[in-house]
Amino acid sequence: MSREVLAKARRIVVKAGTRTLLDDGQKPDLVLLRRLLGEIVELEKAGKVVIFVTSGAIGTGMAPLGLTKRPDSIEELQAAAAVGQSRLMAIYNSILEPLGYAVAQILLTHDDFQDRRRYLNLRNVMGVLEGKKALPVINENDTVGVDEIKFGDNDILAGLVANAVDAELTVLLSDVDGFIMDGAVQGEIREVTAAVEAAAGGTTGLGSGGMISKIRCAKTVTASGGSLLLIHGKKVTLKEALEGKAGTLFLPTGTRLDHRKRW
Ligand code: GLU
Repeated sequence: MSREVLAKARRIVVKAGTRTLLDDGQKPDLVLLRRLLGEIVELEKAGKVVIFVTSGAIGTGMAPLGLTKRPDSIEELQAAAAVGQSRLMAIYNSILEPLGYAVAQILLTHDDFQDRRRYLNLRNVMGVLEGKKALPVINENDTVGVDEIKFGDNDILAGLVANAVDAELTVLLSDVDGFIMDGAVQGEIREVTAAVEAAAGGTTGLGSGGMISKIRCAKTVTASGGSLLLIHGKKVTLKEALEGKAGTLFLPTGTRLDHRKRW
């Protein structure tokens, strides 16, 4: 029943975290990336519009800079992001090109959502890309966003992107099977209540955002009429997820607002 929203969604934001995209937090998982990007292209061919929010830049940039563990200093994190972002995009391009698709790289900061002109530019560009054989691939502009790295939060970014492009569905690929409450993975959450937030219990140490930022993303998305699906990115394929076979589905609580209100 409510899983119908999965089949019906036309515009879908897919966000994958570092732990899904990389092995050992550092090496791009090529098998997974080929599978995931291939599935995204299939969805596009079936008439869906997919926007991919990627993490993994910092992890990918560590080895080329001779870093063996995640650095603590902001400058080193930014340097790693600068190196890793371009490496990741090279990999994405090499996978997508044989499938006839290009990468449209979009790097954003929180300011881009606050400034109405930049926000409208973003919407316009996304509109131009729709229906083209170019996949929008979005990440935070880590090299200029000190705060973004500190709170390093692509879950929140995914929620803002979903709102900006009027996505009916946001899929978060993480390293948990779904949202756990009362000791069990919940199939469905009808409303992000205080109890849900309490069960998310601060940070879980997963990626940089943890469960709390996933719940915040769910709140943003569902309050403006979208749905959010939280799945395990390595265990579940996108196809299985969209068939409602796994994960936690957060259902819309609000009605779809006009986009000026949403901004
Ligand atoms: N933007 C960061 C990166 O690409 C990841 C932030 C996050 O995982 O939330 O490495």
